[in-house]
Amino acid sequence: MRRRLAAAVVVSCLAVASCSTSGGSTGSSSKRTTTTVEREQTTTSADGDAPSPAGDPLPGDVPDRTFPGLGDPRIDVTHYGVTLRATPGDDEISGSVELDLRPRTKEPLTSFTLDLRGPKVTMAGVDGVRAKATTSNGQVTITPSSPIEPSAHAVVTLQYEGVPDQSEFPGWGMPVGWQSDDEGGWFTMSEPDGTATWVPVNDHPSDKASWTIRIQVPKGVTAIANGRLKGGAPKPVEDGREQWTWVEEEPMASYLVLVAIGDYDLVTSEHGGIEVVRAFPTSLDEEDRAAFDPIEEIVDFFSSQFGAYPNDDAGAIVVPTGLGLALESQTRPLFGTDGIAGDSAPALPHELAHQWFGDAVSPASWTDVWLNEGFATYADWMWDEHQGGRTVDEQAVRTAGLGPADDAAVRSTESAGTFSTSVYEGGALALQALRRTVGDEVFFRIIRRWVAERDGTSATTADFVALASDESGRDLSGFFTEWLEQSPQPALPG
Ligand SMILES: [Zn+2]
Repeated sequence: MRRRLAAAVVVSCLAVASCSTSGGSTGSSSKRTTTTVEREQTTTSADGDAPSPAGDPLPGDVPDRTFPGLGDPRIDVTHYGVTLRATPGDDEISGSVELDLRPRTKEPLTSFTLDLRGPKVTMAGVDGVRAKATTSNGQVTITPSSPIEPSAHAVVTLQYEGVPDQSEFPGWGMPVGWQSDDEGGWFTMSEPDGTATWVPVNDHPSDKASWTIRIQVPKGVTAIANGRLKGGAPKPVEDGREQWTWVEEEPMASYLVLVAIGDYDLVTSEHGGIEVVRAFPTSLDEEDRAAFDPIEEIVDFFSSQFGAYPNDDAGAIVVPTGLGLALESQTRPLFGTDGIAGDSAPALPHELAHQWFGDAVSPASWTDVWLNEGFATYADWMWDEHQGGRTVDEQAVRTAGLGPADDAAVRSTESAGTFSTSVYEGGALALQALRRTVGDEVFFRIIRRWVAERDGTSATTADFVALASDESGRDLSGFFTEWLEQSPQPALPG
């Protein structure tokens, strides 16, 4: 996630100490308060009945202090197979989803919940037997006819239809979930909870899964999702529609799932064993499309720094509307037409860096989102240096002067819950402080090991602290407490 034209905004803010952006989360502050946040309980309950932290409105939710109310810790969904019918200009969608899941409970699982806002479930089944489905407060409670044994693997089938119910991006105000573009098409922008607007889902990044997304649209309409287009083309289905089947085999957090339908060109190429798909509105001119030419060069640079690109698919999608932000949807980062500035897409390096940090290694709770944004901001600084701009250290020193985490600590719910500069620049500063502390060689060993060992999983800040401590041979828990849990941050070490 990066705010529109963020690179330019941040640079201008660095030059003008008192500037601010429309959302108010970028800019300096003289407010100096010292706060310490408690470590979050990030391990989900093994038996499903541990008390939820304060703020979780429903007993079955994943414990998450920043965005409570999402997901169900009693289940582990391993695969979603979705078939969605949607039409440009028509608010209604309908679909079916088959979820492969296993209980995380020690006792037989008598019921569980999925997140769904807007559409209603019209039929539910578990292992081919009809199940009870009740909807309340944006959640569907599924009660199988007989409990699912803890060792079992269950297939849950749901049919649903209705009008998606958007939410709002916390702190920034943009619409989240299924939404229209300026040309009558539809697309999704789903961080943090928008996927539940168009498919029943265990909508929390602690439960990653592979996805097969079949989208049935009128003939002539293009449908796009994450991963690889099966068969390389759509297939005719009933009612004169065509079905586009996209397969993402790498585990994917639900907020990274993307769907778009409308008039698009798919520009496909191959780069070092990676299939690269750029999806452009047919109305987008060549000059604007050229802003995405550097994808391969950026991927190569980050691969040389962080380890091999963690997927077989890459690319980007531009939707024909102003988004006010860009999002790192897996394999296919999402941009609006306002994400193009002259001959570049300023957020492109940031969103591509997320393919390692956020997508391959996902946060186990939303309070850990600095593991996404701090790292992507840092990678963006590295790309700037690689391009002959400021060095990372120069950028860090300038950023430190603005006190990006002065208002609240990096891992406070206030920072994570508004995607403030604290998690972006404050997180990146913590990384540069780490680099100055352990030296370049150990620092990059830590970063590469983080990706290599955690690829495909959801990880916590405590996991990163433990890994960094192990790799550096010193206990860094106090160091990270100062940089992540307290505000203001310390001065950069000498
Ligand atoms: Zn980001």
